[in-house]
Amino acid sequence: MDISIKILLIDEEQAEYLLLAQLLNQVGCGGYRLSWCNTLDGGLDKALSGHFDIILLDYYWRGTTGSDLLRCARAKGCRAPIVVMSAEMVAELDRDIIRAGASDYLIKGQVDAQLLERTVRYAIERKAAELKLSRLAHYDILTNVPNRILFRDRLEHALQLAERGQMSLTLMYLDLDGFKQVNDGYGHDAGDALIRACAQRLCECMRKSDSVARIGGDEFTLLLEGTEQTGDIAHIAEKVLEAVIRPYRIGSHQVLVGCSLGIAVYPVAGRDAESLLKHADLAMYQAKQREGSAYVFYTEAMNIEVHRQLLLESNLQRALGNNEFCLYYQPRVELSSGRVVGLEALLRWMHPQRGPTAPEAFISVVEDTGMIVALGDWIIRQGCQDLNRLLERGRDPGFVAINLSLRQFFEGNLVARVASIIKQVECDGSRIEFELSETAVMENMEMVSLHLRALSNLGANFSLDDFGTGYSSFMYLQRLPIRTLKIDQRFIGNITRDDDDRELVKAMISLAHSLNKQVVAVGVETPEQLALLREFNCDQVQGFYLSHPLDLESICHLLNQDTPFSAATIRHI
Ligand code: C2E
Ligand code: CA
Repeated sequence: MDISIKILLIDEEQAEYLLLAQLLNQVGCGGYRLSWCNTLDGGLDKALSGHFDIILLDYYWRGTTGSDLLRCARAKGCRAPIVVMSAEMVAELDRDIIRAGASDYLIKGQVDAQLLERTVRYAIERKAAELKLSRLAHYDILTNVPNRILFRDRLEHALQLAERGQMSLTLMYLDLDGFKQVNDGYGHDAGDALIRACAQRLCECMRKSDSVARIGGDEFTLLLEGTEQTGDIAHIAEKVLEAVIRPYRIGSHQVLVGCSLGIAVYPVAGRDAESLLKHADLAMYQAKQREGSAYVFYTEAMNIEVHRQLLLESNLQRALGNNEFCLYYQPRVELSSGRVVGLEALLRWMHPQRGPTAPEAFISVVEDTGMIVALGDWIIRQGCQDLNRLLERGRDPGFVAINLSLRQFFEGNLVARVASIIKQVECDGSRIEFELSETAVMENMEMVSLHLRALSNLGANFSLDDFGTGYSSFMYLQRLPIRTLKIDQRFIGNITRDDDDRELVKAMISLAHSLNKQVVAVGVETPEQLALLREFNCDQVQGFYLSHPLDLESICHLLNQDTPFSAATIRHI
């Protein structure tokens, strides 16, 4: 049998060594190799640093007690199980040595071959189980790199060193882009293989002193120690990105993923684990907003921005509760007659200090937080009620156009909610037009298309906002129940100055007509623009030249005039 178990005996007595060797021989048939350490001069250190499966330690050794020796062994990083041997064992001693990290004890004089064998085996097995458990608790099973718990430990430890000025510290937070698609498209095994390969690449591009951890599905953290210069950190970040986004071969597939990396450098980005992690995450989120794979360093400005957003968010919540929102209306005018054919409802926040505030300042927060769902319902209801009020007062504005955000389609049952609002408010569904942005429609074709069909059963019409800024597929445009295309104001603003934009607008109008759609030009500010649009056969116009968005009272007044936009205004050249 091969020598399988290496035992170290720490004892002064040669007799004891010989006795143990003899006992081992009886049971082990050569399966044990016993080494003996009996000197102090470097012997103990050397012995402890060697690889042994188990250490048998005499309780009294050169004037030191077993408990001190145990602590010394553990402090030196010795991980082998240690069995203490003493002439007698009293309860106090027993507790003391177990607390100091002993696996078991043997009482000299009572040791026979079987007991020795059993003690040695058990101690080794117990230690192995202990190590395995600790590994399971601290390492990610899939990738074998540290998990969140161990990473946190290491980060705390690194922070202590950094605090004492002994080391610089950088935390990188990494998230894969497109992992979900791989998982959903090729199955979980492929997803697992991708994560494993990614972890391996990360480990390969890190130095020994750095550590890689997996802290979530497709999220990793990297801890860099001793890298101070921003240039060096950026260089490492580039290396990491390059490594991660290289194509992966998973089974028979070639798989590509992107990667976003947020970087938090101690102490600029925080002095404790919590803030470093939070800020690296924040920077990662910024990196995600960029095109393709990118890395971003955390900056104080980001924090200020986040605080600003949080404050805005809570102010908006309050505004919703306090009824601080209101709708303004901007007329849509038919070019041929000067008639108001519809009103676009435009949201305003009647801010207690700042007065009417345009949506640009807050709409993205309203959308990102999901508040748009509740607010969106309010907008639809208010729009319908205002329309009824105008009709009751004998003013017919045609329809009300209501802007819909994409998020409103995703959350809750939009169609059922619209139906119930229309019913409650007793509004004519055919007097509602929903405006949807071109990109939102094109990027979510299937889902949007289903909703549009259901909403059009309620009588509603649709227009495509920001037309020309996205990439509309004309085939789809033809298939959707969209009545009107709204040419984005960026094009209209330039038609009198820029030949290309003029040609483009002209082409868009004739294209829309060939698809049987009406065209509205948005952002008409000058009579010259109006004249050109008339020449191009544009159907409707909307813009400051005709009217700014107005509150309901002013709109009511405007509609009171027979032809608010007289032929003279419209024909003015
Ligand atoms: P939009 O749908 O493109 O609305 C037109 C915007 O252009 C309005 O800005 C309007 O005041 C402005 N505008 C109209 N004529 C002119 C002009 O001649 N010159 C210039 N420079 N601008 C003109 P507003 O009201 O600030 O709205 C901005 C955006 O906010 C809207 O763009 C829309 O995307 C969003 N929004 C407004 N109200 C709502 C709403 O109720 N719900 C949702 N989801 N979004 C809304
Ligand atoms: Ca609009």
